[in-house]
Amino acid sequence: MSCEHSNDCSYYRTYRYRSSDRQSRLLVESYCEGTLHTLCRRLKSNTDFCREAPEDLAPNGYRVGTHKKMKTDSTRKFERYKIKNGACMLQMLGTKKTFSAWIVDISEGGLRLELNVQPKELDLCSEKSLLKILGYSVGAIPFPLPKEVVKPVWQNDLVMGCSFVSTPV
Ligand code: SF4
Repeated sequence: MSCEHSNDCSYYRTYRYRSSDRQSRLLVESYCEGTLHTLCRRLKSNTDFCREAPEDLAPNGYRVGTHKKMKTDSTRKFERYKIKNGACMLQMLGTKKTFSAWIVDISEGGLRLELNVQPKELDLCSEKSLLKILGYSVGAIPFPLPKEVVKPVWQNDLVMGCSFVSTPV
């Protein structure tokens, strides 16, 4: 069974064809194209930091070609806050399509959304769609949103990690 995130994964895009690199081949076969994808450290990193993991972070948590594990302490840039009852309304930028979701946690760099419908039903394409936050439960969020537009960077079923981006001109 293959990983459902392989289409959006920079590690998979880069390393799946490196058949001469035995270690990369094994990792791709066992994680991305095998049964270990549920244990992928890249997915955990995406969730923890609300942005895609660095391309050279292998699914086993080591930097490619090294014996170094990714240091989580030094890469955490923003403090994250868990949110209760953080309802919000979003619009797919450039369209009239709107939908509601829950903000389940937030940092100054991004937020994690729990959608009420499958992203596929919204035709929401991770990494290409920009979402405008039309409104949200102000009382549930610990600080004003730094930007009103977010970009999805990873998605796991109904949960989607997004980073704040500037409004396109
Ligand atoms: S590296 Fe992880 S997220 Fe990327 S395709 Fe492989 S298992 Fe999936």
